Amino acid sequence: MHTVLEHPLVKHRVTLMRDINTKPKLFRELVGEITEFLAIESLKDLRTVEVPVTTPVAKTVGAKIADSVVVVPILRAGMSMLDAMLRLLPYAKVGVLGMQRNEATAEPIPYYVKVPQAKGDELAIVIDPMLATGGSACDAFSQLKKLGYRRIVFLNLIAAPEGIAKVEKEHPDVAVYTAAKDERLNSRFYIVPGLGDAGDRVFGTL
Ligand code: URA
Repeated sequence: MHTVLEHPLVKHRVTLMRDINTKPKLFRELVGEITEFLAIESLKDLRTVEVPVTTPVAKTVGAKIADSVVVVPILRAGMSMLDAMLRLLPYAKVGVLGMQRNEATAEPIPYYVKVPQAKGDELAIVIDPMLATGGSACDAFSQLKKLGYRRIVFLNLIAAPEGIAKVEKEHPDVAVYTAAKDERLNSRFYIVPGLGDAGDRVFGTL
């Protein structure tokens, strides 16, 4: 259930994003653009219903999105992907998960959960730029499942093999979409080569 986008337009943007000299303004723009590619690829099976439409030339039948969607950014770096998601899904609800990581153990510490209870079979789209150890992601999926979500998609920009393996083992039902799969984690649980701390790069707090 793990898909890596293999697209030259994505690879070009990921390379710019990795560059230590890329400033927050461009970094945020790149995050938004890559998020759009991830959303387009991952939402190919979104359900639609037929609707009548009258063009200036004729009456025909079009399509309208039928699925209810909740977009769930993991704070704080996940916020950088939210605007792009809401551009494509302006009717989506937003739920927020605040997750801090213990810098020594990389264990996630949830400190804020503001996600609506699932009604029916809504699709939850979790967004977080980095899939490193997989700790926060797996914790987020467990929280969402407790709230009744059964259809979960996870969009991230860069993933480490360790994180991918943990998600596949603990949450094989979650569909994961990544812009680039990297080599490994280092001893401080940063992705190598990665791009550093995504939150710091987005918010200019280096
Ligand atoms: N989170 C980040 O922002 N960067 C990493 O490399 C790993 C986790």
